[in-house]
Amino acid sequence: MRYSAGMPSYVSHLEAAIDGTRLPAREQHTLHEGRPIWVRYDLGAVSRAMDKEVLQKRPPTIWRYRELLPAEDESVIVSLGEGMSPLLRCDRLGGSLGLSNLFIKDESQMPTGSFKDRGQTVAITMAKWFGVKRVAIPTAGNAGGSMAAYAARAGMEAFVFMPEDTPEINQYEAVQAGAHAYLVNGLINDCAKIVLDGRETMGWFDFSTLKEPYRIEGKKTMGLELAEQLDWSLPDVILYPTGGGTGLIGMWKAFQELDELGWLDGERMPRMVAVQSDGCCPIVRAFDRGEKFAEPFENATTIALGLRVPAAVGDFMILDAIRASDGCAVAVSEQRITEWMRLGTEAEGISIGPESAACIGAAESLLSSGWLTPDERVVLFNCGGARKYPKLIQAELPRLDKDHVPDWALFEADLTRE
Ligand SMILES: *Cc1c(COP(=O)(O)O)cnc(C)c1O
Repeated sequence: MRYSAGMPSYVSHLEAAIDGTRLPAREQHTLHEGRPIWVRYDLGAVSRAMDKEVLQKRPPTIWRYRELLPAEDESVIVSLGEGMSPLLRCDRLGGSLGLSNLFIKDESQMPTGSFKDRGQTVAITMAKWFGVKRVAIPTAGNAGGSMAAYAARAGMEAFVFMPEDTPEINQYEAVQAGAHAYLVNGLINDCAKIVLDGRETMGWFDFSTLKEPYRIEGKKTMGLELAEQLDWSLPDVILYPTGGGTGLIGMWKAFQELDELGWLDGERMPRMVAVQSDGCCPIVRAFDRGEKFAEPFENATTIALGLRVPAAVGDFMILDAIRASDGCAVAVSEQRITEWMRLGTEAEGISIGPESAACIGAAESLLSSGWLTPDERVVLFNCGGARKYPKLIQAELPRLDKDHVPDWALFEADLTRE
């Protein structure tokens, strides 16, 4: 079957994650009892409408999984061509860690340089369909830049609130896309409060992580793609840098849906690993203590800004997915993050951001504890690249004089230096 404008969505209803309350589709929702909401599909109808061959003929964007996404109408989709990030085999990095089947899914190649684009294309599409004209977001950086871009593409007004130490690139990309962007002398939860408080007066729609139901659906496509790229098999382990957790929650949802569609052929589910820095690891702490919810993390400090989320509204959803998958949560040393960034990029040429660098550290520690074994198939998510963090990668380059023959011995010395 070909999809066309006017093709209906397969959403059957929405469902409160905290207590299973059934909510109507095609109405605007935020939270239920202060907690996120799932989008549910008529998977029987999806399986009649879509198959693996049909999929292969479609363009390589996340909208190729149209039947598993909530857009009501093809013509309202707001897209920048996001999706189908490469799944790169990493033998050099794997070799240095002691893993013989390591892959990196490189989300730094998405339109605005992070996987946030997957969530924003769906959330902005739905907001537009609901007639929203003005959106606002608290952000650690990438979500704001991404929302600004998609809001521009949709012709919406965008307000972006970020901590004052957010990298310049995130500040400028939001402004460049026409967003009204502000620096706040606090953390992302302080920014979130401004967005919440302004809802009445400013009339904006709150785009905070998980406060509207559709970002998860976009993030879910990482799981759908991964399965498709591995020819409908799944890896043994997924290492995921976890802040708000949308990606981990979304991927786990994707695997359940594919399983229900019968597309996985009895594949074992991957063990999901939430990776955080020891400077901000509320999920790891709750996991270790066997708790259902996570306590807010005091004095959160990490250079991996995507991980600097002291309190996640979907904490129990992250913890459920980790536990249901037989996975775990790992905190790595904040001190070593830049070292792992360099290690990854030197080994593979992939621009590794500090968040994903933490996953390299997690691979190291899970291998040494025996939780991971050397030949397991491991996929590490590079959710954004080092390029967004010029300060973390800046280097002093030796200068040459154009009028003098270079000192060749200097180059030789450079080659032998560590
Ligand atoms: C947002 C972000 C994260 C955290 O993602 P969640 O799905 O919200 O946990 C990790 N890395 C980067 C680069 C990010 O932008």
